[in-house]
Amino acid sequence: MTWDRQINLKTPAQIKIMREAGRINAAVLAAVKERLQPGVTTIELNAAAEEVLKSHGCTSPFKGYGNPPFPASITVCINDEMVHGIPHPKRKLKEGDIVSVDCGTIYEGFVADSAFTAGVGRISPQAARLLEVTEGALYAGVEKMRKGNRTGDISAAIQSFVESRGFHVTREYTGHGVGRKMHEGPQVPNVGIAGTGTLLRPGMTIALEPMVLAGTHETRVLPDKWTVVSADGSLTAHFEHTIAVTEGDPLILTVL
Ligand code: MG
Ligand code: MG
Repeated sequence: MTWDRQINLKTPAQIKIMREAGRINAAVLAAVKERLQPGVTTIELNAAAEEVLKSHGCTSPFKGYGNPPFPASITVCINDEMVHGIPHPKRKLKEGDIVSVDCGTIYEGFVADSAFTAGVGRISPQAARLLEVTEGALYAGVEKMRKGNRTGDISAAIQSFVESRGFHVTREYTGHGVGRKMHEGPQVPNVGIAGTGTLLRPGMTIALEPMVLAGTHETRVLPDKWTVVSADGSLTAHFEHTIAVTEGDPLILTVL
């Protein structure tokens, strides 16, 4: 991932645009979620996402990103795959899988970035618990996105939420500022120490994204140079929202 570490504060008008980007991104993810059925291929999920993006005249910043260029508009990860999975025509969903879908939307020059994990049909109690804890960790982080707090407060909240429930949080992959670029400053790790890091100010827009693993926190990257999996093959989950720091409560941008 290439990073621009600069923090760009957004004006209220820019946050309005990002809210619209977030609304479209939420519609994309909702369309993909509806299609999580046994037998559906991951490339079909990508096609469904692209149809919604296109209907809004939008594109995803994922397509063509990085080196080798990412070939799709969403990432799709099944079970032990944590992030950056490449949609494929031969990859079919099965009953009991958990599927993580991440999408970005560029609207009027601004990016929204969001992800969810959901089950295909009936899933195991452990998988259901993993999803619940990962989503809960995201909201524990969102709650700390307040003027005067620091990024370490967010990181610590995510880490303690996950670890106190017996799961593990990634060390290598982090949340990030988002705006005209998908990755801006500040970086927001999923582990950290309260009271440290960058001071949060109104106008900051940040994508928080806990990535949680059932076995250990260790990951590795597959030979396709994109797909990140748990090192021990255990289940993983990923939830993400783009959120604005305001004078008051945190404003989640990536909802309908
Ligand atoms: Mg994302
Ligand atoms: Mg992100």
